[in-house]
Amino acid sequence: MRMMAPSHAMTGVLTGVAATFVAAPLLAPDLWTTATTAVLTAGAALLPDLDHPQATATRSQGPVSRAACTGVRALSARVWRATATPRDGGGWDADGTHRHLSHTVPAALLVGLVAGLVSLWWLGALLVAWLLASLALRGLFGRAARSWLAVSGVAAVVAALAVVVADLPAWWLGALVAVGMVTHVLGDALTPAGVPLLWPLARRGSRWWMVSTPFTLTTGTRGEKAVQVISGAGTVSLVLLLAA
Ligand SMILES: [Zn+2]
Repeated sequence: MRMMAPSHAMTGVLTGVAATFVAAPLLAPDLWTTATTAVLTAGAALLPDLDHPQATATRSQGPVSRAACTGVRALSARVWRATATPRDGGGWDADGTHRHLSHTVPAALLVGLVAGLVSLWWLGALLVAWLLASLALRGLFGRAARSWLAVSGVAAVVAALAVVVADLPAWWLGALVAVGMVTHVLGDALTPAGVPLLWPLARRGSRWWMVSTPFTLTTGTRGEKAVQVISGAGTVSLVLLLAA
């Protein structure tokens, strides 16, 4: 049971704006900084599901992202086998692929660090921003964003706005990747299957202890719509606060 891409993207928009708010003393954000950060964080909030063959992120770049999915799943299974205790079941496929390594805080920090380092080079920054923007468009607009060419073109405009106009620093691109990924993990904690939020720390003899909130949502239901509406309303309130 996966939370759907639009919900992850919407919560990513919210935490992207919130992160801009928190980092305001360092960033001195203008409208472009806030808007592009929101979009890119929404894209980053789809990244962890690259460990699922049917996820939006996996289908986003054809054979390239499918190969990335295979790699992420293989690495996840390897790390799971190396660190699991007899109490760890390995999730859906009992092999530690989906909702394992890519759904941990250390993974979010590491991917954020790599994205930040890549972004030190301006072309790298454009590539990171383009990948995130193209994910965000697919997450936010669903079926309306089916054409690879159209999505890629709009994503290129967003990437140029983020890197050239808003001039987002490399450290910020890295930070928003980590924030987006952690947002995804927290979103999945709202579903009954939970997420390995504590990894690599052990709890009750389990290192892949699945954390879920006391009140969980079934995906595709009214609860999930509520997540989207609350994220949207929260974003609007924060933007108004930022503008004031
Ligand atoms: Zn997930």
